Amino acid sequence: MIDLHTHTTYSDGTDSPLALVKKAASAGITVLGLTDHDSTAGWEEASAAVHGKVQLALGAEVSCLTEDGISVHMLGLLFNGEDKALQQLLSDSRDTRIPRMKKMIENLQAAGYEITLEDVQAATPPGATVGRPHLADALVAKKILNNRDEAFSGLLNNESPFYVSHFAPTPEDSIRAIKAAGGVAVIAHPFASRRGQILSPDSFASLVDAGLNGIEVFHRDQSGEERNQLISIAAALNLVVTGSSDYHGTGKMNLIGENVTSPAEWERLESMADQRRVVSR
Ligand code: AMP
Ligand code: ZN
Ligand code: FE
Ligand code: FE
Repeated sequence: MIDLHTHTTYSDGTDSPLALVKKAASAGITVLGLTDHDSTAGWEEASAAVHGKVQLALGAEVSCLTEDGISVHMLGLLFNGEDKALQQLLSDSRDTRIPRMKKMIENLQAAGYEITLEDVQAATPPGATVGRPHLADALVAKKILNNRDEAFSGLLNNESPFYVSHFAPTPEDSIRAIKAAGGVAVIAHPFASRRGQILSPDSFASLVDAGLNGIEVFHRDQSGEERNQLISIAAALNLVVTGSSDYHGTGKMNLIGENVTSPAEWERLESMADQRRVVSR
């Protein structure tokens, strides 16, 4: 089973990289993609944990914004983690998340919610890319909300007056940076309409021009109809089709391996990186 999109405590997942690799091994995963939001900080720990049948495809999920302000997530896999330009792009993105978090907290405070930056910091594991899930956890700790899901369907939803976006590269810029670092780029859950505004079908051509390699089709936030549309787009543009769990530990319902990528599609994707970078032991 090949699961190319998961998160750890280095972003908003709740398992450490070590725990994630162990869980993947017992779930029968053969290739595990490690894709923390805007960070490669978990790579070392995950690589050290690799054993048995599990192979690791190291990566990151890059937060992007289109020029029309649509939020897009780009999975970069199998890139050189020491590439300076890509690491700079990731660290710029992480840096803008802190003032953004402060603004969201100010918005909540102005409406009478008793929440502080210190509360959010206490809910954020050391070294993690800070995001709304940590703010949600802080609101839960303060008994203002019951769980992350409630936060995302209400106070912290994209359409909520408390929501603030953060600076992010365009999807094209992030694809170019991932490719220049030798990796492959797969657009994550592009038609997940239940999360908010989605890309239009004609925006894929420009992503392909920038070097896009694949589309994440099988993902719990995409309906059957959305998946079928994406399969047609992938076929027309000769893109690899992937499926993945987007596992976040106990932070989300998603179970490891609940959606997977076929071995043939994975083989095709892996061959598009500039060298073999899968970690195995
Ligand atoms: P941010 O990057 O700070 O805007 O937060 C968005 C992230 O929150 C997404 O990338 C997901 O990983 C996570 N997320 C979205 N919806 C939910 C949910 N219902 N429950 C838990 N986490 C969620
Ligand atoms: Zn996440
Ligand atoms: Fe995502
Ligand atoms: Fe994700």
